[in-house]
Amino acid sequence: DYGPAPEDTGIVTDWLERHSGGFGHYIGGAFTKPGKTFDTINPATGGTLAKVTQGTQSDVDAAVRAARAAQPKWAALSGHERAKYLYALARHVQQHARFLAVLESLDNGKPIRESRDIDVPLVVRHLYHHAGWAELMEDEFPGTAPVGVCGQVIPWNFPLLMLAWKIAPALAAGNTVVLKPAEYTPLTALAFAGIASECGLPKGVLNIVTGDGETGAIITGHKDIDKVAFTGSTEVGRLIRRQTAGSGKSLTLELGGKSPFVVFADADLDAAVEGVVDAIWFNQGQVCCAGARILVAEAVAERFETLLKARMAQLRVGDPLDKSTDIGAIVHPVQLDRIRELMDQGVAEGAKLFQGTAPEGCFYPPTLATGVEPASVLATEEIFGPVVTLTPFRTPADALALANNTRYGLAASIWSENVNLCLDIAARIKAGVIWVNCTNVFDAGAGFGGYRESGFGREGGREGMAAYITPPRQKAKKPETAP
Ligand code: NAD
Repeated sequence: DYGPAPEDTGIVTDWLERHSGGFGHYIGGAFTKPGKTFDTINPATGGTLAKVTQGTQSDVDAAVRAARAAQPKWAALSGHERAKYLYALARHVQQHARFLAVLESLDNGKPIRESRDIDVPLVVRHLYHHAGWAELMEDEFPGTAPVGVCGQVIPWNFPLLMLAWKIAPALAAGNTVVLKPAEYTPLTALAFAGIASECGLPKGVLNIVTGDGETGAIITGHKDIDKVAFTGSTEVGRLIRRQTAGSGKSLTLELGGKSPFVVFADADLDAAVEGVVDAIWFNQGQVCCAGARILVAEAVAERFETLLKARMAQLRVGDPLDKSTDIGAIVHPVQLDRIRELMDQGVAEGAKLFQGTAPEGCFYPPTLATGVEPASVLATEEIFGPVVTLTPFRTPADALALANNTRYGLAASIWSENVNLCLDIAARIKAGVIWVNCTNVFDAGAGFGGYRESGFGREGGREGMAAYITPPRQKAKKPETAP
């Protein structure tokens, strides 16, 4: 039984009630008094969950000062000492797993089965993995140094997991952090700040400033920040690239996607249908690497479509806290409007929709779009909702051309029983992550990131660590002397 026990929701309600006066930021190891606040809502009900402070220039200045002051001491600790803190954070997240899962589902709208069985366990895995890296830094990256103070801005789709992806490598390498969660989903980051405090993480090593894009821009443009790491829309990624150009800041961007899901004629079609459920209906499709474009071999397209529609009819959309829910609430009414607008445009361009059912409110049904032209909005724009397109192809060469017909390049999923075909196609799809006969498989030990408009830089594994250190010091060359 994986539904939240009443006592879990009770812990969250108590916590929210204790903070009914609003949340401040977490700066220099303490929570500030709330300033000018905005509401964060429960999208499933529309009710306000909490009031959260809009970060100002002086809040960000204070956070950066705290991070700067803490950084030399943090970097001077042995890797083993830093690892002990990361292990402690991982253990404490495990202890508070049920609380964090319920809080995440309330603030984001994702099904409790996902927040409890996927998001929180992956957060823990990420912290443990990077504790290991902290221990290994001196051996694995000799002669390097941390970058310094990192400004990190994250999106709302995996609030706590994106926080872990960002802070774990940064802290492991000896950097300190100023992080801003997304304005729709700030609560688990604030809860995590409390956990950091509980673990005795030294003051100023982790600072959380809440606010919207304006606060984000103050962080990413701050002159005393050495590295910027951003996950979010391609549009904002572009702004940040411009803002940081020539500033000497190091930058990694994790942006959007429109990933292909390629089903060859010899694929196990039942498994591939389950793959689609995972690829596009996980987290309401609000996943940057979501398999949003099904490309299916003509010979099996009809059968595949029939199987998929039958499976769609079984998906349950509704209360995120109900353990039998497959698809929860869309993160915010603004995002729901955006999905609806894109779908209206798609239908006007000739797409045919097959939809499951969804309750009234901030919900959107699982949707299959057919008759989608390659240049149309549904084939090209990232919808960030539970919507997948289906396009038949004739030959592997056609499949490859369609798969690469995108300005993004984050992920791809290939389904076939022919391993030679899989390996051949995998090598020629331009995407940072390729899954074969599976999808949305993540591990802290494997680098994740994109090509083209999906951004640059990798998170996770060795490449992810390399993004948080300066290159090894070069041995000074002897000056050339005249013969
Ligand atoms: P966004 O890019 O607007 O916001 C992401 C984060 O950046 C938030 O914390 C936001 O406050 C901050 N931000 C906004 N403007 C900023 C600026 N000028 N400078 C610095 N920080 C800024 O994304 P969103 O509004 O959360 O979602 C919009 C679209 O982005 C989605 O519909 C989807 O297409 C895409 N998205 C992608 C991902 C991903 O993981 N690749 C995640 C979420 C959203």
